[in-house]
Amino acid sequence: MTSTPLLLAGAFSRQLEREAYAEASRLLCRSAPHAPEEAGTCHDCRRVAEHEHPDLLVAAPESDRHVHAPRFEGQAGGKETTIPTALIRAIVAESARRPYEGERRVILLLDVDRTEGAAFSALLKVLEEPPSATRFVLTATRPRLLPETILSRVVVRALREKPRSETAAALRRLGLSAEEAAARAAFVPGDPESAAGLDLDAARQERDELLEAVSGLLLEGSPAWGVILASRLPAEDAAATAARLELLARLLRDAAVAAMDPAGETVVHRERFDDLERLGQGSRLDLLHLAGEALDLASTLPESRRNPKLAAEAFALSLVALDQIPPSGEVR
Ligand SMILES: [Zn+2]
Repeated sequence: MTSTPLLLAGAFSRQLEREAYAEASRLLCRSAPHAPEEAGTCHDCRRVAEHEHPDLLVAAPESDRHVHAPRFEGQAGGKETTIPTALIRAIVAESARRPYEGERRVILLLDVDRTEGAAFSALLKVLEEPPSATRFVLTATRPRLLPETILSRVVVRALREKPRSETAAALRRLGLSAEEAAARAAFVPGDPESAAGLDLDAARQERDELLEAVSGLLLEGSPAWGVILASRLPAEDAAATAARLELLARLLRDAAVAAMDPAGETVVHRERFDDLERLGQGSRLDLLHLAGEALDLASTLPESRRNPKLAAEAFALSLVALDQIPPSGEVR
């Protein structure tokens, strides 16, 4: 078996994480191959799934996703937004240790695109020549951010994103109605498991509040709605705020599409079609462009040093400023 490190790349961090654990199971299971439904009765696979296997080590930007991670210098226990370089160094230092039980150890580095340049330098050597009994599995939602030196030392496996229709079909097979399956797939298009576990009422409420505020702002040109949007975009942390910005971007795109395509086949949040169409037809601004800006901000927010709350508020208020420009076309 090759010891070349594996990089799992795809759009959804949690989907990549599940796939990384599945890979760890395959590597650590001593009764493989067995059917996935037997994993619950397999001692090795069960302990991987429950984060208890002694030969499994997991590091991620957030400390609550760590498994058997070594202690490291400057450990704060606080809210990390990147994998600390000191942690990467500590993992490299102990990666040559023999496995406790089986033939190998497995080290998962989750969301490795969210780390620092110095951490990549620390990783280079061990990825080039991994200890013979250690397998590295990395995940990244944005592999293009990884240095070429890292990419040249890993095998990249791209996880295909499921289309929304496939996610909805998977949810229907779980017994959900067509309507509920479509509604859930609209929020989490590529990931049936997350879509199934979603708190749909809360997601709908969040969406409807964003749609109400952005519609008030862009249809009435009212600064008061801008202030309301500015209060509704920030969430408890950078990742959750980024998710809200992505949802807003989706709604802006849906509105632009709804205005052009009355059949609405490609409108994702179809259950709000009438309001989206109204926004699409009534707004003077280029909604697709605004959606792109919201997505750009969302993609940089998790590792940005900017305060996510302030950044989201500033984005909402920038829409007010844009909307105050006369629609004559001379200014824009
Ligand atoms: Zn097993």
